[in-house]
Amino acid sequence: MSDLTLDQWTARAGQMNFRAQAFIDGRFTDAASGKRFSSINPATGAALAEVAECDAADVDRAVIAARRAFDDGRWSRAAPAERKAVLLRLAELIRENLHEMALLDSLDMGKLVQDAVTIDAPGAAHFFQWHAEAIDKLYDEVAPTGPGDLALVRRVPIGVVGAVVPWNFPLDMATWKAAAALAAGNSVVLKPAEQAPLSALRLAELAAEAGVPDGVFNVVPGYGPTAGKALGLHMNVDCLAFTGSTAVGKLFMQYAGQSNLKAVWLETGGKSPNLVFADCQDLDAAADMAAFGIFFNQGEVCSANSRLYVERAIKEEFLEKLADRAAGMQPGNPLDPAAGMGAIVDEKQVQGIMRFVEAGKTSARLVAGGERVSVDGKGCFVQPTIFETAQDNPLARDEIFGPVLSVIPFDSEDEATAMANDTIYGLAASVWTDDLSRAIRVSEKLHAGTVSVNTVDALSAQTPFGGMKQSGFGRDLSLHSFDKYTALKTTWIRYKT
Ligand code: NAD
Repeated sequence: MSDLTLDQWTARAGQMNFRAQAFIDGRFTDAASGKRFSSINPATGAALAEVAECDAADVDRAVIAARRAFDDGRWSRAAPAERKAVLLRLAELIRENLHEMALLDSLDMGKLVQDAVTIDAPGAAHFFQWHAEAIDKLYDEVAPTGPGDLALVRRVPIGVVGAVVPWNFPLDMATWKAAAALAAGNSVVLKPAEQAPLSALRLAELAAEAGVPDGVFNVVPGYGPTAGKALGLHMNVDCLAFTGSTAVGKLFMQYAGQSNLKAVWLETGGKSPNLVFADCQDLDAAADMAAFGIFFNQGEVCSANSRLYVERAIKEEFLEKLADRAAGMQPGNPLDPAAGMGAIVDEKQVQGIMRFVEAGKTSARLVAGGERVSVDGKGCFVQPTIFETAQDNPLARDEIFGPVLSVIPFDSEDEATAMANDTIYGLAASVWTDDLSRAIRVSEKLHAGTVSVNTVDALSAQTPFGGMKQSGFGRDLSLHSFDKYTALKTTWIRYKT
């Protein structure tokens, strides 16, 4: 539970100072065009800040600064232990400013401040700490060549890393890219989502305060088709790490082909299945976690368990439990520690969600929710919604990215696994069973980057996170995240034996 009350959070929100300029070469600066865009609080409709609207000219300035910093070695050639010390200070600064970091994301994109202060903001500090601590413990290799040759195989930073991230976990998505890329010695140019740029700008300020040198970490807020595309097409960006939709991920591969063949890493969409077998003894725990798996963060989670396959024998009992959980997770003021869900990121996203819901009312069985609501007479809110539906319904096929669960009954293990895999996505999956052999058998068959057994969405700094199929490739988190941000470089030394 959050340590502050609704009144205390509201008072703090009223005192916030927002950094709204771009952060380039160690300084806050306006966009060269002078343009700005409004960052809106989706819970109230109020404008929080007028943010610098960067475009190709600003991206170019940032890339030039990042390249200069990389080439002169102020960060790229610092000892790993030195980079570690700076990033550990950054982790500490995030902790010292935990309430502010949490509020920034809650106000900017509508998530519950209680989640932001207990999960997102501490997570960002932890991920910086974890990558910092790892970087001076990675050893390079000497290849087993013949006598007279010494072949050193070293991981070297790749150069200028462009990072383009979404709005659903603004601070954490920025951190997942920046922590690993910076620890490895790269310079970073980050473009946050236009819907929620504020925590990334504050993060850049804290990074500078921690001692990250000028030019090493730059943040260019702006729109995708301008600032994002400019980063994707830039000839001086060596690697582009993207998290967002599958459609835009495909564009980044095109941008790379049209420009300098930069390495592209994609964490994209999902439609993750959650399989509940009748032999699962603790159906209450399964229902709790199934509800969490789809309604946490308003369902705006790439790995949300949005398709639930339940064995027909327990379907009605399980649906009742789910409806009961949904009733207890109704949306409220995101600053209220008692609210069950927060606001949807913006009006466009609400309308997209409600199109699926309205179509579902005539093509599927509505079990819970199904309405847009307001809180205190305003805002972008949608009830936690559950449909029983068929495998071929768009509710069960498309990524809705909202609090909408599709429940589909099954009669056999083979049928459940086949339906779970019948999707273009492969990010995550969950299985609930007390039969150990079945747990292993089904996990092995599921096409997903992460399979959680008797839980949902298991995730930690120690384990790689990423997708298969059209959920992307490359992994965030864990030591494997360094694979994206380093190149293997071989140096042959010939000596006289
Ligand atoms: P999005 O693809 O619309 O936007 C993501 C980022 O790409 C934003 O910064 C945006 O400005 C930029 N962008 C948009 N159009 C662009 C273009 N034409 N050229 C260059 N850049 C462009 O996604 P979103 O709506 O912000 O986020 C939701 C999506 O993100 C969902 O599909 C979700 O599954 C995915 N996501 C995936 C993960 C993961 O780890 N796999 C995590 C979070 C979110």
